[in-house]
Amino acid sequence: MANANLVEVRGLRKWFPVQRSFIERLVTRQRDFVRAVDGVDFEIRRGEVFGLAGESGSGKTTTGRLILRLIEPTEGKILFQGVDLASLGEEEMRQMRRHMQAIFQDPYASLNPRMKIGDAIGHSLEIFGIAKGQEKRERVLEMMERVGLTPPSILYEKYPHQLSGGQRQRAVIARALILRPDLVVADEPIAMADVSVRALLLELMRRLKEEFNLTYLFITHDLATAKYICNRIGVMYLGKIVEMGPLEKVYRSPLHPYTQALLAAVPVPDPKFRRTQPMPKGEIPSPINPPSGCRFHPRCPYAEPICSEEEPALVEAEADHFVACHLVQR
Ligand code: SF4
Repeated sequence: MANANLVEVRGLRKWFPVQRSFIERLVTRQRDFVRAVDGVDFEIRRGEVFGLAGESGSGKTTTGRLILRLIEPTEGKILFQGVDLASLGEEEMRQMRRHMQAIFQDPYASLNPRMKIGDAIGHSLEIFGIAKGQEKRERVLEMMERVGLTPPSILYEKYPHQLSGGQRQRAVIARALILRPDLVVADEPIAMADVSVRALLLELMRRLKEEFNLTYLFITHDLATAKYICNRIGVMYLGKIVEMGPLEKVYRSPLHPYTQALLAAVPVPDPKFRRTQPMPKGEIPSPINPPSGCRFHPRCPYAEPICSEEEPALVEAEADHFVACHLVQR
């Protein structure tokens, strides 16, 4: 029987060394690290949309890049289809990449400005020796049709600067799907699109997920967007997952004070609405020297002495709903 988990992440850490000037290195021998991802565990189940949400600097994008093995972890394991990615050699990893594709925030930066859209979408078919010439062209035209890049035969010949932002993101989606991957890591895929096309792109991603039997890791800072597409969600804060569970549970009864504050900040289209949830105090602290104990304690309106002394573990508070907070666990 196939493993229900497409991806399993275990004890994942990524620390980036802080670059120092020559003088600073002379003065201090201590090496500092940005603890971008600092011990996270989660699974992405086959066929689901798993969201990773949090403010900028929470570690969600680094986690996505680690899963794609665009960067190497400092510690921990990533199993994809049960295979430890760290055990794969260069060629094996190259073949594995066919099954995991990415959609990044900025479609303009993702596309080669000197390559025609059709060639960019079909490039990986040639790289992996799947199709070339007329066969490649036909596959690309079909994919363009499916992502709404129409008329495909005309748009095939265009360059990225000749398309609208929404069309460019559709091209990036087509390029990600042309290899028929199992996993798509979508990192803020609609953040740079015009407000008018965001809903259309999300709807497209939802439809394509069904048509191509995809699993998504959906990375976003915007809980309103996550609500629209995710089945489960993990909320990250300073390199840790602080809450994780099915979307309806996390949205209806958020347990962690940080999740509560994030959800309270989601705009509500009702002028009579009054916010009751206190917002976190101050700015997100530096990931170089994260606060002791619970990393959220300097900003938490409910912090108690234990919060700065002991780090709360991520535990199952109710079925499939996990939280890392002393108060809730008590
Ligand atoms: Fe707030 Fe303490 Fe819970 Fe952290 S552990 S979220 S500081 S109550």
